[in-house]
Amino acid sequence: MSEDTIFGKIIRREIPADIVYEDDLCLAFRDVAPQAPVHILVIPKQPIANLLEATAEHQALLGHLLLTVKAIAAQEGLAEGYRTVINTGPAGGQTVYHLHIHLLGGRSLAWPPG
Ligand code: AMP
Repeated sequence: MSEDTIFGKIIRREIPADIVYEDDLCLAFRDVAPQAPVHILVIPKQPIANLLEATAEHQALLGHLLLTVKAIAAQEGLAEGYRTVINTGPAGGQTVYHLHIHLLGGRSLAWPPG
């Protein structure tokens, strides 16, 4: 279980966010500092800190998050493709300790990332 984070506050509507999708299990909203024309974060409502904390118990939820990314990408018109990123822990560049999938698209993305 993660500590409360700014994403917990967004889930509880204590702070505003540009929400693009919601269901019983997850929430998706636009990143406040977008790195591409489309930059959306898809998060579970359950406060899992990151993949280091994920277990087999979360298998269905993790699959649901990925399929939600796919549906949102289609909704955003990203037919040419897009990138998904999950930053994990300090070495992975994670800054908010509530699991989230970045969905980035709308421009050509280079590889490798920084
Ligand atoms: P990460 O570095 O993978 O932990 O990503 C955290 C992301 O959350 C960054 O891209 C931030 O720009 C984004 N972020 C932080 N606070 C907010 C917020 N209040 N609303 C939307 N996105 C946020």
